[in-house]
Amino acid sequence: RIVLGIETSCDETGAGLVRLEPDGSMRLLADSVASSVEQHARFGGVVPEIASRAHLEAMEPTVRRALDEAGLSLSDVDAVAVTAGPGLAGALMVGVSAAKAYAAALNVPLYGVNHLLGHVAVDVLEHGPLPPRCLAMLVSGGHTQLLSVSGIAGEVTEIGSTIDDAAGEAYDKVARILELPYPGGPPIDRMAREGDPNAIAFPRGLTGPRDAKFDFSFSGLKTAVARWVEQTREAGMQLPIADIAASFQEAVADVLTRKAVLAAAELGLDTMVLSGGVAANSRISALAKERCSEAGITLRVPRPRLCTDNGAMIAAVGAHVMATELDPSPLGISAVPGLPVDTAVVR
Ligand code: ATP
Ligand code: MG
Ligand code: FE
Repeated sequence: RIVLGIETSCDETGAGLVRLEPDGSMRLLADSVASSVEQHARFGGVVPEIASRAHLEAMEPTVRRALDEAGLSLSDVDAVAVTAGPGLAGALMVGVSAAKAYAAALNVPLYGVNHLLGHVAVDVLEHGPLPPRCLAMLVSGGHTQLLSVSGIAGEVTEIGSTIDDAAGEAYDKVARILELPYPGGPPIDRMAREGDPNAIAFPRGLTGPRDAKFDFSFSGLKTAVARWVEQTREAGMQLPIADIAASFQEAVADVLTRKAVLAAAELGLDTMVLSGGVAANSRISALAKERCSEAGITLRVPRPRLCTDNGAMIAAVGAHVMATELDPSPLGISAVPGLPVDTAVVR
């Protein structure tokens, strides 16, 4: 059975195709993404109205490209999955409306699914089925969460999350302070390679003995970078951009991986999935690999293209829901911008 997945929660319009085999395994057939990221660059962040309009224009061509890539036609599609939430209301609405139209026209089931679970489910397309229980660390522009996952369409519990900025947001804000382009992750990652990660001792948020063990905070780190930069400029000294980038990145990587490994150990989980746009970071994935291997945890990181928002991850959630034979969503569903992570399918 072939599932079309549609994603429009933020600034990527995604259409993906996944085949659910009779034995329950899943195969990635196509993954087409159109991004409006350049249109947001001069604003330093995603502008919701611009994103919605871009989705509207890109939706149909993106679905067509995915079908071409797989050598399929619309009539081959057996189910349509779409991101119902969480995300930007106007952006979500474009995808949900399109998915309803495809499902109604093709007379196939519709699954309005959870975007966050997509970031975890996508790994199945690359590394095969997940164990019955695992830990997921989701790090993106909008989210930083530790999840205990007992099946994609099963029980998913939030263990911890950021209390202020998401990790990707911290990258974007620090890039702005350093006058690097948006989105900030890739240029900071690149600059950091030439810098000393121990040059500046930036704070590790929420790592005190009284702090919430599995929650994150990055706004203090961002402020510390801003203050350091300001003081250096006031002293009339040249900014050591590479050292700042490397030291900032080390603080983020250290806290993320330390807490994730601790959570896995405490919950007795021996598999970790690291996903979301920030998982593409070279230092974060390297340190996660190192610390997981020391702790005897199997680390799974999807390839960078699948870590950022795409349609295949949504098709993967749809395929999981189909495989568990849960009912599809009614055609009358609406987008749910604040959809909680424990809800796989919207009813
Ligand atoms: P959501 O939180 O809803 O999933 P999003 O679209 O903001 O939404 P992604 O597309 O998964 O999230 O990721 C984008 C974020 O990832 C941006 O903040 C960007 O700076 C960050 N990012 C991308 N590449 C890297 C990198 N190499 N290092 C660090 N951060 C990165
Ligand atoms: Mg994005
Ligand atoms: Fe995402």
